[in-house]
Amino acid sequence: MKLDPIVALATSLQTQAISICRISGDGAIDIAETLTHLHLENQDHRISYGFIHDPLTDEEVDEVLVLVMKGPKSYTREDVVEIHSHGGIYVTQRILSLILGAGARLARPGEFTQRAVLHGRIDLAQAEGVNALIEADSIQSAKLALSQLKGSLSLLSEPLKEELLTIIAHIEVNIDYPEYDIEQVTRTQLLPLCTEFRAKLVLILKEAQSGQRMREGVKTAIIGKPNVGKSSLLNALLNEDKAIVTDIPGTTRDVVEGTIRLDKVTLHLMDTAGIRESEDRIEKLGIEKTKQIIQDAALILFVVDGSQALDKDEEAVLSTLDPEKTLVIHNKKDLASLSDRLEVSALNKDISALIEALNKRYEVDQFVFTKPVLNNERTIGLVRQALSSIDSAIQAIQEDIAVDLINLDLTAAYEALVGLTDPENNTSIADELFARFCLGK
Ligand code: GDP
Repeated sequence: MKLDPIVALATSLQTQAISICRISGDGAIDIAETLTHLHLENQDHRISYGFIHDPLTDEEVDEVLVLVMKGPKSYTREDVVEIHSHGGIYVTQRILSLILGAGARLARPGEFTQRAVLHGRIDLAQAEGVNALIEADSIQSAKLALSQLKGSLSLLSEPLKEELLTIIAHIEVNIDYPEYDIEQVTRTQLLPLCTEFRAKLVLILKEAQSGQRMREGVKTAIIGKPNVGKSSLLNALLNEDKAIVTDIPGTTRDVVEGTIRLDKVTLHLMDTAGIRESEDRIEKLGIEKTKQIIQDAALILFVVDGSQALDKDEEAVLSTLDPEKTLVIHNKKDLASLSDRLEVSALNKDISALIEALNKRYEVDQFVFTKPVLNNERTIGLVRQALSSIDSAIQAIQEDIAVDLINLDLTAAYEALVGLTDPENNTSIADELFARFCLGK
């Protein structure tokens, strides 16, 4: 498959030491030869020195280094030429326009990577990894992206597909040998296999959650009745040495959103202004907006005044919260202290117990890097789909439903897993994916 030459700046357009214009596709080398008067055909994976000329006037535009990477040994698997010029904005733009004039067209965002996928150099999952790596803003998320880029998603999906095929094969075999009692075989063989397979999908989704937490932070809501010290606690968290505060407008009283990065976890504080605005009455925790926040939150910091017993309203609210995601924080420990609870003094910025509890709670996330992890909605959605198909297969097995219906469920699960690395001709997803890339990648 030969595709027209595309060009983009691989570096940003600003005054800098060097700029790199990258051309990929059929004719990329011709274009570079036209503009530099160099013979580049035999310079594969070598750097040549020369000048860019304006073909109309033959005027020298800039002194450049030209790197030729003939396909398939290039990022796109096509012939790729990089022109390294001086970094001035004018010079860079001029070279880009000369390349366009010589027959290349401006690449769309992500089009280089799209070509790498089209030519089979990387799969779609790896392409997502490229994007994630570019967007990574911490060492953890960069590591995660790099593991995906290296093809770890295929490492994850291939054994799953194999295993599922084996399960499906059991059914096919039984259908082919009708002298066996199919229902009997189904129940004794398929059920444990499917249950075991289901557990693997659940684990993968759990790990994906950790990965997501690493990238996006844990959606956190700080709630509690008035004057228990929510603002003070927020303040103390923001002052934490290891906290990196971003995107927090105004004073703490107005804080609506922000990200706090701790050792082992990033907290993404959600807009809880609604709770404070509602006349500061805890009964108002019932209002829709607050309900939504509580529902969306993966972590709820429920602040109470440790110098007083919980009142009826607090007990009532607490009973509606998911204990799995709720930390009850007894504030004002400077006024009253009991050893068996999570206590802080927001006023004195003494919140080490909370920080410790948070780091401990998310410690397991640290192990995620070594394993392949799903890292975006598309892939997580597919594994969820597979899980729900397996669930209905398990249900069908338990309810003695006809074997070919079970087979349908298993096949649906298999197709969802295939979609992880090979979303067939699903161009809309692929287009969407590549459009998220930055230009020149
Ligand atoms: P919010 O309404 O829940 O946001 O509570 P604030 O953070 O505004 O605090 C209410 C009052 O409690 C203020 O007067 C704070 O100074 C005080 N306060 C907050 N944290 C502590 C603490 O740890 N110890 C003591 N003694 N007072 C605190």
